[in-house]
Amino acid sequence: MHEIAKEKIPFVTREMVEEIEKKYPTPFHIYDEKGIRQNARRLKEAFAWNKGFKEFFAVKATPNPFIIKILKEEGCGVDCASIQELYLAEAVGMGEGDIMFSSNETPAGEFTKARQLGAYINLDDITMIDFLDKECGIPETVFCRFNPGGFYNVSNGIMDNPGDSKCGMTRHQIADAFRRLKGLGVKKFGIHAFLCSGAVTNDYYPMLAKDLFQLAVELKEETDADICYINLSGGVGIPYRPGVKACDIMKIGEGVRAAYEEVITPAGMEVAIFTELGRFMLAPYGHLIVKAIHEKHIYKEYIGVNACAANLMRPAMYGAYHHITVLGKEDAEPDHKYDVVGNLCENNDKFAIDRDLPRIDMGDYLCIHDTGAHGFAMGYNYNGMLRSAELLLREDGEVQLIRRAETAKDYFATFDFCDVMKNAGYKK
Ligand SMILES: *Cc1c(COP(=O)(O)O)cnc(C)c1O
Repeated sequence: MHEIAKEKIPFVTREMVEEIEKKYPTPFHIYDEKGIRQNARRLKEAFAWNKGFKEFFAVKATPNPFIIKILKEEGCGVDCASIQELYLAEAVGMGEGDIMFSSNETPAGEFTKARQLGAYINLDDITMIDFLDKECGIPETVFCRFNPGGFYNVSNGIMDNPGDSKCGMTRHQIADAFRRLKGLGVKKFGIHAFLCSGAVTNDYYPMLAKDLFQLAVELKEETDADICYINLSGGVGIPYRPGVKACDIMKIGEGVRAAYEEVITPAGMEVAIFTELGRFMLAPYGHLIVKAIHEKHIYKEYIGVNACAANLMRPAMYGAYHHITVLGKEDAEPDHKYDVVGNLCENNDKFAIDRDLPRIDMGDYLCIHDTGAHGFAMGYNYNGMLRSAELLLREDGEVQLIRRAETAKDYFATFDFCDVMKNAGYKK
């Protein structure tokens, strides 16, 4: 389970995709219910020592109600940052205590909605106290988001740059915020911080936890606030490349426990640990399945597929690596070097560059791995491209359509212009 995988094994086969495509044409994102549930259960087990532990899945990673419902059944809540995400949470039946509202630059009206749903309010800045108070009053429980500034060095090369992040309050401000909130009647406090993204290490959460535990002890002394919750937020990464070792969530849970016993217990405190994992919860349990439809031989070898960066933006946006398996050729020699590209008029529309793959024939299905989080969600409509369907491979092996593909009509739906647009749609 935690050994280093030399190859990544898709949860679908060529035969399965051929069968699925009879009903739901490629491209599509497909999610693995079994994998999602098993992983959610491991997380819960890793933190079972902590009374009150709860994962609030970061909705932005995979905003599909069918997926969020599965996570809800596994005991997860949600982390929302916009009113649309709050509606999603409401639609799935998330209630009192199930929602963390970790917004920033919050527009008017969203705190009101969050409070109506019984969400925890997580303030990104000290100026949000007055904003919240004026809009809908101050609840009994409030979280404040902390930003320590500078660089956050976790371990061998894994670091991030909170000093350059727009989110959170300074050390000085968070103490001030706690005093002010206390004066406004807040009874229970939470501390939240997101200091390192995509950390593929067992050290990040324990290190962050220790820092936040120490901060909690200090803030209690300085402000006498009753600190009940520590929210470690997201950031635990996954191995996108084969040969990289996955995080061991049991070790992570134990590491956080050690920090808890070192800092929180001697201070006579008790806090519930919250997490807002997105990538870790879902990324490995989603694939984008595409079909090779053109090949091109110029200065390099290109394989054109029937999807593009609009379906998966991470490679184009961050140069992110997503592993590719040519379905049915899992055991073939990777003796060809290809750029695997989409059809945007943008040269960064490449799912892979100089990738060693087996020979690809037209009609081959390519499985692009680890698209379950921040995959479909980041989709867009540039060049008039449409977002694909999302499918769920259920535990019983059935395939369920959990979001249909966009159509030309959807693309034009916000115009009231002419019948060509209203009746748009390519008929095969
Ligand atoms: C994006 C985000 C997360 C999830 O991040 P991952 O890297 O997917 O774990 C959690 N909390 C907040 C506030 C976020 O913005």
